[in-house]
Amino acid sequence: MVFDQQGFQTTSELWTGSLFRERGVEAILGAHVSKVEDGLIHYETLDGAAHTIGFDFAMLIPPFGGVPLKAFDADGADITAELFAPSGFMKVDADYTAKPYELWRAEDWPTTYAAPGYDNLWAVGIAFAPPHQISRPHKTANGTMIAPSPPRTGMPSGVMGKTVAMTIADRIKHGADVEAHTASMARMGAACVASAGAGLTRGSAAAMTMLPVVPDYQRYRTGRDERETRGELGLHGHWVKLMLHYLFLYKAKARPGWQFIPE
Ligand SMILES: Cc1cc2nc3c(=O)[nH]c(=O)nc-3n(C[C@H](O)[C@H](O)[C@H](O)COP(=O)(O)OP(=O)(O)OC[C@H]3O[C@@H](n4cnc5c(N)ncnc54)[C@H](O)[C@@H]3O)c2cc1C
Repeated sequence: MVFDQQGFQTTSELWTGSLFRERGVEAILGAHVSKVEDGLIHYETLDGAAHTIGFDFAMLIPPFGGVPLKAFDADGADITAELFAPSGFMKVDADYTAKPYELWRAEDWPTTYAAPGYDNLWAVGIAFAPPHQISRPHKTANGTMIAPSPPRTGMPSGVMGKTVAMTIADRIKHGADVEAHTASMARMGAACVASAGAGLTRGSAAAMTMLPVVPDYQRYRTGRDERETRGELGLHGHWVKLMLHYLFLYKAKARPGWQFIPE
């Protein structure tokens, strides 16, 4: 991702790499973990070479997958493959036609999150099946896929949930024919604050905004709006994160005025 930091263009790769390096952590990108032993990680890099590295602390995020639900129609026929992608996520109004990276378009992304053929089923946030990845997928020399899953982080998930809730409310109030509300990840913007150190005076966080979440190379040179895609690191980020923490808990409890707090 290309973004603006204090008037200069930088990339998320450089940014995260230097954030880690400043804290004494070597960033290894384009790698696939094949096995984890006590204190030892085995991984493969894009050139197909096998490596090991020792660790004392690790958080491994496995490949994303949906809850393995089975679906049956009124006659008891198994319609799981019709409703869910092989990854377990629910198919919605996305364009799932398999095509190469060069042909991926903003229009492939869903807008209403309704399951095709069912006007009473929706899947938002982490639950919907994306049409494809967001970044260019890579394969190691041995054929192992290195393809990051499209993130459906807090803010886009909240916006999608609200959009579908409004569609459902409209249809309950005004009938099933009311047009659905829309919110495509290829149109919406999002903010993200990633902690890089705690403390009211010495804390730090990386605060980022991007528009749109899914890059659109037909509309924008770098895939995203260069004025709205920016990032800053500092104490202010920690204060923003702390403020959001209390605001979102307040909203989750539906206390007076909760609806004025954005997603
Ligand atoms: C370690 C980690 C760190 C993250 N950090 C950030 C961050 O800093 N910023 C950010 O924006 N995003 C972050 N994310 C991503 C973010 O948390 C998710 O993308 C977001 O929560 C997805 O929202 P969701 O509503 O789709 O799903 P969830 O928040 O997972 O909600 C799904 C809910 O459905 C419930 N459920 C499941 N099955 C059933 C069932 N059968 N019946 C009833 N209920 C059920 C679950 O209990 C859960 O409460 C992080 C994720 C992880 C794992």
